[in-house]
Amino acid sequence: MARELARRSLPSGRTARVVMSEAADGDMAVGGPENILLSQCHALAPGTWTWLEQVHGTSVVEVLEAGGGAGTAADAAVTVASNAPIAVQVADCVPIALLGCDGVAVVHAGWRGLRDGILERAAHALSAITDGPFQAVVGPHIGACCYGFGDRDLDDMADRLGPAVRGRTRDSRPSLDLAAGVEYVLDTLDVVMAVVDGTCTSCDERYWSYRGTGTTRRQAMVAWIQPEEG
Ligand SMILES: [Zn+2]
Repeated sequence: MARELARRSLPSGRTARVVMSEAADGDMAVGGPENILLSQCHALAPGTWTWLEQVHGTSVVEVLEAGGGAGTAADAAVTVASNAPIAVQVADCVPIALLGCDGVAVVHAGWRGLRDGILERAAHALSAITDGPFQAVVGPHIGACCYGFGDRDLDDMADRLGPAVRGRTRDSRPSLDLAAGVEYVLDTLDVVMAVVDGTCTSCDERYWSYRGTGTTRRQAMVAWIQPEEG
């Protein structure tokens, strides 16, 4: 079932929270805001969520209130608003949350988005609305064990994201290590990886995996800022 990956008390008295769903929590894939399954969402985080129309691009949406910008074509969201959950849906791609001094971001990062700079764009957008230092929370994604990748594409990724992205599958074929790519980018941004859940979505039955089974179902990472109690 859903697990809290991070909970951080902020200087403002508010609390940043990051929760990751599993297959057992239900399908978090949505085609648009009208399809949001509210009962499932509410079990994980309160209020109306901001979902994104994820396109493996580099657009970031700033969310000003609960549900703001829902359905926007973007692959990351940032907010400093209380009780305005922002979510990304994944089934192999890397879900990443960034926690700032008084704000949060969520990022959907597949190989294309990572290559094209979605993580840098999200960190930049977050730094425009809150101070650092930032910490990153990395959720379950497909591991190098299961992510066979063509040689030529792998060369391109290694040029962009460093040699550590060159992995090997369990049967010794060249593969892409997405986590290594994420770590490389975070390093250039001076962002600490505070929490890393390296579970492979293809190996582990608790998660949906597009590469593993071709499913259209998705798990969600959701982040929000809880107001001060009382
Ligand atoms: Zn695996």
